[in-house]
Amino acid sequence: MKPIDLRSDTVTKPCVEMRRAMMNAAVGDDVYGEDPTVNRLESLAAEMLGTKAALFCTSGTQSNLLALMAHCERGDEYIVGQYAHTYRYEGGGAAVLGSIQPQPLDFEKDGTLSLEKVSGAIKPDDHHYARTKLLCLENTHMGKVLPLPYLKAAKELAGDKALKMHLDGARVFNASVKLGVDVKDITRYFDTISCCLSKGLGAPVGSVLCGSAENIEKARRWRKLLGGGMRQAGILAAAGIYALTHNIERLKDDHGNAMALAKGLAQIESITVDLQSVRTNIFFADIKADMSRLYSFLKERGVIIDTSAHLRLVTHLDISDEDIDYTIGAFKQFFQ
Ligand SMILES: *Cc1c(COP(=O)(O)O)cnc(C)c1O
Repeated sequence: MKPIDLRSDTVTKPCVEMRRAMMNAAVGDDVYGEDPTVNRLESLAAEMLGTKAALFCTSGTQSNLLALMAHCERGDEYIVGQYAHTYRYEGGGAAVLGSIQPQPLDFEKDGTLSLEKVSGAIKPDDHHYARTKLLCLENTHMGKVLPLPYLKAAKELAGDKALKMHLDGARVFNASVKLGVDVKDITRYFDTISCCLSKGLGAPVGSVLCGSAENIEKARRWRKLLGGGMRQAGILAAAGIYALTHNIERLKDDHGNAMALAKGLAQIESITVDLQSVRTNIFFADIKADMSRLYSFLKERGVIIDTSAHLRLVTHLDISDEDIDYTIGAFKQFFQ
């Protein structure tokens, strides 16, 4: 039996058709700009996200860092959420490699940053301060979808204050599928967008950074400097093309499976789930149990979870609706 791994949507394995696309990919040296499959992925991503250009990156971490370094110079500042991936989970790369200062703010309950707080955090134009250059948002954030009117208001504020906008859109297609809109209705508010191919979209490796030709050229230079110039990368880009052309609409299945799992777990007395907060493919369950015992019990039955009592559960394309029923059954058995 294949394991039911609910820790993350990064654990998916490429399907046979995706592997076939990788095997058959035409390749060339992408550092010379000569890999036709990378070039095709980059134009496809730019077209889908509504930007002039795109860049194939090794990871979302690299793609976010390149965007920050394209927008900000040494001594500049970006405003970002306290629990944003870009700030908290990327090794402090912007500070370490870009000499860029973060200005973290607490997230609101809905995954937005209060625009009043953003406004208040922008530094005056005065040599005492770092220069505030960029507002960085995340969509989805912990499975939450940012409302379109919020994005519009954020863009207006950024326009007034001469800030650029970057979207950590690792799961931006989960957001567009959830809202039932074209992803461009989300990405149009941003100067740059990072989108992961290796999360819900199911590619083994890679992210795309989308933006203006000028920003993407800057990012390309930084990518080389960071060791991210890949040669016959078309083998990986082919998986990305497959992901963008086959695995977007089906994200709604992951959202349905997350809700089904949330509802099933919420029936168990020792588990609390805020069903209102279940929006896409990620949610949290608070569990009153010895977590290491629960972990081992489930693992023996082929279900893999983390061990935090504030448990993050993630659905993805390697989880079927039968897997969800089976998982709920296994949890129930443990708590009996
Ligand atoms: C996964 C993720 C990233 C990028 O992660 P990599 O593992 O470097 O590809 C960025 N932002 C968010 C919100 C993520 O979940």
